[in-house]
Formats: sequence, C-alpha cells, structure tokens
Amino acid sequence: MSFQAPKGTFDWMPPRSERVLAVRDALAAPARRAGYGYIETPAFEDTGLFSRGVGESTDIVTKEMYTFEDKGGRSITLRPEGTASVMRAVIEHGLPGGPLPVKLWYSGSYYRYERAQKGRYRHFSQVGAEAIGTEDPAVDAELITLAVDGYASLGLSGVRLLLNSLGCAECRPAYRAALQDFLRGLDLDEQTRQRIEINPLRVLDDKRPQVQAQLTGAPLVTDHLCGACKAYHEEVRTLLTAAGVKYTDDPRLVRGLDYYTRTTFEFLHDGLGAQSAVGGGGRYDGLSEMIGGPPLPSVGWALGVDRTVLAMEAEGLFDAEPATVDVFAVPLGEEAKRVAFGLVVELRRAGLSADMAFGGRGVKGAMKAADRSGARFALILGDRDLAAGAVQLKDLTTAEQTAVPLAEVADTLKGKLS
Ligand code: ATP
Ligand code: MG
Repeated sequence: MSFQAPKGTFDWMPPRSERVLAVRDALAAPARRAGYGYIETPAFEDTGLFSRGVGESTDIVTKEMYTFEDKGGRSITLRPEGTASVMRAVIEHGLPGGPLPVKLWYSGSYYRYERAQKGRYRHFSQVGAEAIGTEDPAVDAELITLAVDGYASLGLSGVRLLLNSLGCAECRPAYRAALQDFLRGLDLDEQTRQRIEINPLRVLDDKRPQVQAQLTGAPLVTDHLCGACKAYHEEVRTLLTAAGVKYTDDPRLVRGLDYYTRTTFEFLHDGLGAQSAVGGGGRYDGLSEMIGGPPLPSVGWALGVDRTVLAMEAEGLFDAEPATVDVFAVPLGEEAKRVAFGLVVELRRAGLSADMAFGGRGVKGAMKAADRSGARFALILGDRDLAAGAVQLKDLTTAEQTAVPLAEVADTLKGKLS
C-alpha cells in the first residue's frame, strides 16, 4: 500500500523548496523592519470564530472550511485565513488596553476545500501583517507600501496593485441597496440571487463571464462614498503616491471576506493564468465587534507564498539552484572518515555550511556526491595527507587543488568564501 499527498495538496521538495523560504523571509522582512511583531496562533480554532469573523455568506464559510468535531465534542475548523485568529488573540490577551496600533505579522499554512488547480490548493501558505486598533490612512498606506517593497525585494516586476474603498457603516447601506436594485434586474441563477440578498457586493466578485458581462452598468461604490470615506481614501492615495507606489483605482474591487470596510486592495500578477491574485487585504473596522471584542478599526494583508513563488518562476527569477553547502568532505578510508566527521563538525561550528559523503561509497561515488551538492570546495582526505596532518582542498569550479594543514582548514575556507 502506498500513499500520495491528499488531493489539492503537494509537497515542496528541495531544492525548489528553498524558494518558499526565500519568499517567506522576503515578504515578511519589510514588516519586521517597520515594527511589526511576530505572532503565531494555532492552526485550528473554534468553528464559530470563522463563521462569524469571516462571514456566513462567504465562499470560505459556506463551502471551503475543513470542519470536524474533536474527541471532546467541540466543533473545530482548520484555519482558512489568518486575520480572525490574530484578532481573537489580540482581544484575548487584552492588547487593546495598551499602545495602538498593535502591529503583528505571521506566516503559516491555511486550509480551504477549493477546486484544486494550478495556484489554487487546499493547503497553502501565506505571510500576513495586521495593524490593529487605529483608524489612520497612514497605517493603510504603510501596510500597502510594505507589501509592495516585499515583492520588489524579490525582483518581481509584474505585480500590479488594485485599490478601492468599500465605504463604511454610514455610506455602505445606501450603496448596498442601490446595488441590490440593479442586481435584481439581471438574469442570474438561484444561488446568485440569494447572494444578492445576503451579500450583494460579493456578486461583483463573481468570476463567471456570463455574470461579469451583465455587470457593466452596475452602480459603483466610489460614487456612493460619504465625505469621511472620500477624504480618508484620498489621503491613502496621496501617501501612496508620495511613497512612489503605483496603483490602479478599481471601483469594482471587492474581496471574498465579509469584514472589509474602506481601503481594499489586491496584488495581481499576469504570469499566473486564472489564479492571478498574489496577495490582498484591506481595512476591517467591524471585525473585532463581530467576534465579541471592543471597537478596533484595523487594516491588514495576506500574501500568498505559493503563488509568489510561481510568479517569480514565471518571471524567470530563479535560474540557478542555490548550493546546499559551501564545502563537501570526501574521506578515502575508515580512519579518514573519522577525521572527516570531526572536521565537518568543526567547520559547521565555525559557521560554514558543510556536508560529507556517507554510506561507504567508493571515491568516485563520493566525488559525484560532492559535485551534486553544489559545494564550491571539496575536502579530500587521503591516508598520505592525513599522516602529514593535512587535507587536499579542491576548488570544484577551477579543479585547482592544494594541501592545507588540518588546523588551518576552517580559516582558509573562511578566507576563500568571504
Ligand atoms: P482568490 O480570489 O484567488 O480566491 P482570495 O481572495 O480567496 O483569493 P485571500 O483570502 O485574500 O485570497 O488570500 C490572500 C492570498 O492568499 C491570495 O491573494 C492568494 O495569493 C493566496 N491564496 C488564497 N487562496 C489560495 C489557495 N487556495 N491556494 C493558494 N494560494 C491561495
Ligand atoms: Mg478564494
């Protein structure tokens, strides 16, 4: 009996998996430099947190959650997204009583029962950042800029930013009603008709061409914003422009989650086919209260790690695979192997990355392993050299070889590698 990864999931394997680590680090780095602290929450929560926090009418809650009863009879859900958990933790730990905004970043696995295809998986990875408890357009602009800088630091040139405002509790109801009036007049299936009544904004997000074609004349949220929302949005745009961030206003941009208000944005990459969103986020001023917390106007984003790797691959940004180690030791014989083992340990403790041939292969196999490791240097340990207290240091790019005293190997390598 053999097993495969469950449908809709896959394994990131070396050396390609290095790309995941590189992307995760790069996307988080700007937020860390901006004072965002690291938060780690459980991979599962009470189901109610997501059904209330993400929204009963969303695809996530109606179709995509991995929900089960645990052995204690609790309804548990594997997290489909990060924001609700972060908000739950902030409230639980009483952070709203301290300095605001609470700025946090995170990274981890998320689970959605999706129709699996390229760029859309049932298990995927995100880096997220949230600024909780402050209503200030500068915070929205900060977060957007951090994401832009993260993509840029990876060398990506094809990421586009779409920007919109979804209004607030003051102006959204009138817009919602106007949109409902318009949508009720369209030729739509029963399920979409129901959505008009529960969450009409989501209909704008319907990806089906026959639906999109009918939406051409739909009322736009931007024409219905109240004065405060207009001024807020204008300030976000001014700050972004001042920071050199390019964006496109997209009055039809809505997001799949119920909790968004005001600033809403999405990052797209055109090299990914249908799954073009590499990240997205926005303001969610009502979320805290929806899950039983105090009023905490907040803004955040989540960036898809898997899709960002795919976007970089589409731009050809990873041509050479990274070397796994700097140095690879090849012992020729039993005693040499003991010396090699000690030497490799010493090199690692000195901060070098080092590996050695295992498994008692012949010299040829061991040299092949050294080549395959991608190491720049091989250390060849033969009896004659060892008797003289030395090893052969071979530069695998030039094939140049010199004897180096055992005691000087670490320093010599450090010099050559710096
Ligand atoms: P989409 O419109 O593609 O379904 P979304 O609006 O559901 O995306 P978010 O919940 O905002 O996505 O998640 C933020 C980012 O996480 C997305 O922009 C995307 O890069 C990534 N992401 C979301 N769902 C998946 C998935 N099933 N597989 C891989 N990446 C995903
Ligand atoms: Mg989705």
